[in-house]
Amino acid sequence: MSEQYEVLAIRYGTRQASAAEVFLNYHAYREPDRPLRMDYFFWVARSPARTVVIDTGFSPAGGASRGRTMLLDTAAALRAAGQEPDAVAQVVLTHAHYDHIGGLPAFTRAEVLMTRAEYDFWTGPMGRRGQFAHTTEASELGHLRALRDAGRLTLTGPAHAVAPGLELTQLGGHTPGQAVVTVATREGPVILASDAVHYYEELERDRPFSTVANLADMYAAFDRIREMSQGGARVVAGHDPLVAARFGGRGRTDDVIRISA
Ligand SMILES: [Zn+2]
Repeated sequence: MSEQYEVLAIRYGTRQASAAEVFLNYHAYREPDRPLRMDYFFWVARSPARTVVIDTGFSPAGGASRGRTMLLDTAAALRAAGQEPDAVAQVVLTHAHYDHIGGLPAFTRAEVLMTRAEYDFWTGPMGRRGQFAHTTEASELGHLRALRDAGRLTLTGPAHAVAPGLELTQLGGHTPGQAVVTVATREGPVILASDAVHYYEELERDRPFSTVANLADMYAAFDRIREMSQGGARVVAGHDPLVAARFGGRGRTDDVIRISA
């Protein structure tokens, strides 16, 4: 039997947004705008053998410059979940946006993994063009390069077994190398969709998100995730306050959501 994990979603930040801000070309749906909270999460998968963290949150500076509310910095958020950053064996980055890689310096020992497509895009010339660059921090991309030079950053292909029971799948769309992570749990597989699905409404009403590198790939990613979930996997959206309602298990605090025991 494959290794099984306890999975936690840690809410470390939040902001008030609106439907017209988050859904691409929202006017096309001919609906009035409405407030929509955007929560910011990263995720922990723990087994008796290892702890893997998926994404790392934004940095205090990266969040503040965009007006985001940081509830806890990355190390404090991990400790709120009973996890010491130095005890984390691996960090999987689903993509390179500021709110997913900014907390990386908290992890001084972990092996870091991300898709080669994602790394190559953001360290290449197109990633520096205005509509792409504003979603990243140059210093944080520099940190990725430094990790790569130090031999701590592993670049993966489109499908990669991170550890037994924990798999990365590249789907693209939101960013060129956007990945999701499927985790084996006692209650069946869980798909940590990250920004392949910010809000359940994207998946359930087929509504792409406003930040998009390739729209056809984003729709195709929705299709892939629907296929995966029809096989029984449960989807954990990347920024949706509904995660707390759908996976009601309370962790140590309200901001630590138990996805699976
Ligand atoms: Zn993103």
